[in-house]
Amino acid sequence: MDVTREAQLRANLAGVHERIDAAARAAGRDPADVALVVVTKYFPASDVQALARLGVTEVGENRHQEAAAKREECDAAGASGLRWHFIGGLQSNKAGAVARWADEVESVDRAKLVGPLDRGAAERGRPLDVLLQVSLDPPGREQRAGADPADLDALADRVADAEHLRLRGLMAVAPLGEEPAAAFARLAGIRSAFLAHHPDATVLSAGMSGDLEQAVAAGATHVRVGTAVLGSRPSVQ
Ligand SMILES: *Cc1c(COP(=O)(O)O)cnc(C)c1O
Repeated sequence: MDVTREAQLRANLAGVHERIDAAARAAGRDPADVALVVVTKYFPASDVQALARLGVTEVGENRHQEAAAKREECDAAGASGLRWHFIGGLQSNKAGAVARWADEVESVDRAKLVGPLDRGAAERGRPLDVLLQVSLDPPGREQRAGADPADLDALADRVADAEHLRLRGLMAVAPLGEEPAAAFARLAGIRSAFLAHHPDATVLSAGMSGDLEQAVAAGATHVRVGTAVLGSRPSVQ
């Protein structure tokens, strides 16, 4: 165990929790209603195990092979109380494999993913929590990550019909080149319309190291924070 690294992670975690608490109070919300998902992509399993010792219960990963190997290593080392979120772009030919290790997939943005995820969850023998990723990009932008807000209800119905998937809510990333507060205000509107049809899908995953305050102000129930906890990721990605 690297004592220095663990001390650094402890201090960083405390700083992030302070930010979350302050943002929640500023928004008139209970800080206990905002959960922290620590994004551990590109960092070693030893960091994930240190985070587990420090009380972290949710981690996020965005590459299937890296995450599956890391989870195996953590489980074998006894750090088995963690919930693993998949937060990355999902190819339909990998979706079934992701469903075999992930506890929650946050990045479901098209109907084509539903069948493979459902079958993967069935093979694993327990239900998979799912968020729909909604795009906050202006319409027409190339390479949008996330579903068009107009398509959310149809996508939600597909997920709701899948036997082994549980629809939990929405996820979004603030687009580059726009004030996060403006993007997340739009997200809050999309979410309230969505909740009218899917009242149990109350999770809102939004906010990262640079914009978690704005996301909490807009109602985020989960923030996904990497850099502010673990430091900068290796630049070769
Ligand atoms: C990497 C990543 C994060 C974490 O970003 P930081 O700026 O390092 O906090 C959050 N969400 C998604 C979807 C990511 O890919």
